[in-house]
Amino acid sequence: MEKNFFSSPQAEVSRLDSAPSTDGQLPLFEHRELLSGDYWRRIPGFSKVGSAEFQTHSFQQRATVTSVAQLRATLGGLASEAFFDDLADGIRNAPMALRISPHLLSLIDWEDPAEDPIRTQFLPLRSCQQPDHPMLQLDSLAERKDSPVPGLTHRYPDKALFLPVDTCPVYCRFCTRSYAVGAGTELVSEKLKLHANQARWEAAFTYIESHPGLEDIVISGGDSYNLRAEHLEAIGRRLLGIPHVRRIRFATKGLCVMPQKILSDVHWTDALTRVVELARRLHKSAVVHTHFNSPNEIVEATQRAMNLLVERGITVRCQTVLQRGVNSDAEVMQLLIKRLGYINIQPYYVYFHDLVPGVEDLRTSLADGLHVEKRVRGTTAGFHTPAFVVDTMGGGGKRDAHSFEYYDKENGIAVFTSPSVKPGERFLYFDPLESLGEAAQERWQIPSERRAMVGEAFEWRGEQFRGLEWRE
Ligand SMILES: *Cc1c(COP(=O)(O)O)cnc(C)c1O
Ligand code: SF4
Repeated sequence: MEKNFFSSPQAEVSRLDSAPSTDGQLPLFEHRELLSGDYWRRIPGFSKVGSAEFQTHSFQQRATVTSVAQLRATLGGLASEAFFDDLADGIRNAPMALRISPHLLSLIDWEDPAEDPIRTQFLPLRSCQQPDHPMLQLDSLAERKDSPVPGLTHRYPDKALFLPVDTCPVYCRFCTRSYAVGAGTELVSEKLKLHANQARWEAAFTYIESHPGLEDIVISGGDSYNLRAEHLEAIGRRLLGIPHVRRIRFATKGLCVMPQKILSDVHWTDALTRVVELARRLHKSAVVHTHFNSPNEIVEATQRAMNLLVERGITVRCQTVLQRGVNSDAEVMQLLIKRLGYINIQPYYVYFHDLVPGVEDLRTSLADGLHVEKRVRGTTAGFHTPAFVVDTMGGGGKRDAHSFEYYDKENGIAVFTSPSVKPGERFLYFDPLESLGEAAQERWQIPSERRAMVGEAFEWRGEQFRGLEWRE
């Protein structure tokens, strides 16, 4: 019987190359055209707000929208009743609470919100949602399993992920940490609570101190933007004071969703600057990692914020999530990468979308994502070319997407190994069912077929099935 999978990466690559391509070339200067002017005035609720007010974090926070009623009041007649109903239904089926800044709201194309990449990320529409993949689990990266202390994930030998807060300036509907981040929703009512709490932080610092192998600490969350300036500075100083800690990174989506804060919240930006300067004096490094997904998120206000960070010598890198309808088109991804580089943000990673409840419409297949990667590499400097990675389910960590050991393209099952993180184990990634043929989609609905397909993926070298629970 013929096997319907590719057992070697080479076989897969040749198939992708032979696929017809309709992608064109990116216009040479499009990435330099950044939206400027009073872009928010087209929103009825902001039409009378002047630049001096709009471009401040205090306005951005005060006018942040957290309910459908508030959105309706802000948008007035810009969106239809059908849109608001669709949104209300979408929220009922979402793992993340609604929260969007005036800056982002103003960047949405309200002529066609259904197709808009920023709407797609922050405002869930029921009509766009698809059933979850049968193998989905909450906390699909098993972060809690690798947590020695609440809010500290130690999975890799020399680095750890510290989550000091569980709130963000906005909520992305696709958040991987929906098990902890933001307020509860109808879908995920009980969340792990990781509030700003100095006793919990101290437990994390003590753990880091007693593990001399740890050189690199990611301060994430939640979002470092939501740390008070004095807390940000205290955390930075405390970590840099641990002799074996060489590198820290503050993760924040803030530059994307509320760039105004960098220029107007002087206390916060100065606190960050002091930590970066302290790191430099100690011959260590402290940097910012941020998160942009669409080229439309980068406007002149973003560049102004970045210019200040550049003047202060603060390195900023970007982690992007590959999302259908947002950046899964190769030209859009090229534009995003070029635009990030143009304002001095270094593209670091593009993540394949994790399996998260309620966002199956955002995921792409491994094959489609690899196609985008090939288009991106070569468009700009190598050090501005992100690695496309899969954060494997079950805690295998991030793997170069090209490095799969096995890819059953027909059924959408990829197998990765992670010899430096979990030697001897195998980890899975699943393509969205929508990207598969009809017969494969039907097979996934039958539990015994599921077992057989996943079993075959694991068995091809006689390995035991590990790391995942069945959900039937
Ligand atoms: C992503 C991640 C890190 C940092 O990994 P890098 O590849 O160095 O960016 C550290 N710990 C955990 C648990 C992570 O998920
Ligand atoms: S900013 Fe990051 S942590 Fe916060 S909701 Fe978005 S993806 Fe999740």
